[in-house]
Amino acid sequence: MVILKTPEEIEIMRRAGRVVAKTFDMIAENIKEGMTTSALDEMVEETIRSQGALPAFKGYQGFPASACISINDEVVHGIPGNREIKDGDIVSVDIGSILDGFYGDSARTYAVGEISEEKKKLMDVTVKSLNAGIDKARKNNRLGAISAAVQEVAEAAGYGVVRQLVGHGIGRAMHEEPQVPNFGSADEGVQLEVGMVLAIEPMINLGTHRVKTMPDGWTVVTADGMPSAHFEHTVAITENGPDILTLS
Ligand code: MG
Ligand code: MG
Repeated sequence: MVILKTPEEIEIMRRAGRVVAKTFDMIAENIKEGMTTSALDEMVEETIRSQGALPAFKGYQGFPASACISINDEVVHGIPGNREIKDGDIVSVDIGSILDGFYGDSARTYAVGEISEEKKKLMDVTVKSLNAGIDKARKNNRLGAISAAVQEVAEAAGYGVVRQLVGHGIGRAMHEEPQVPNFGSADEGVQLEVGMVLAIEPMINLGTHRVKTMPDGWTVVTADGMPSAHFEHTVAITENGPDILTLS
């Protein structure tokens, strides 16, 4: 069942989303070569808590940290630890917050130092695919319109669209119905309605769309070792079109 949100609930979700967005702004200013991913995670947790919110991922199904930090060929769900971020890395950070009982969920990929042209283009296209998907988050569209728009932008650039992991509804739970795939056809899926809130999150690979999970049980990596990028926003469907809730 898809749970619709009232305008008042959407405003609470906007505040939860703003906590995450401000945390991303903090990361943009601080992420650098030589920093360990656990040091970055500590800063994330402190920034979330300093805004009166809780880090949603900490303890979620046993996840041990506040941020998922995934570098280069790591797609999502990387566990922070003593790995140092290097010049030329692309670092995907996924963060969730809980504020007044509602969740915010967003992800960004950061370039550290000088990155290759191919990584730069991968990041650009992933952002474009997210924006194309968000633009279809309008009432009376089918859910598949979002999926198809993301897929079209990514595949036109020759990239692999991850299929094993998808976006999701979000509200009083981090993962609600419906699932939001990043591939599919525009005429399939539920009809979008005002009050739906969706986390739209393309995970786009430079090479194959295929992924595998590492023995730690969390970290998802590309099957061919090529880099991957991940951008995500929490988006409400309103009478006036898509409303991105994870902005600062
Ligand atoms: Mg996320
Ligand atoms: Mg998500």
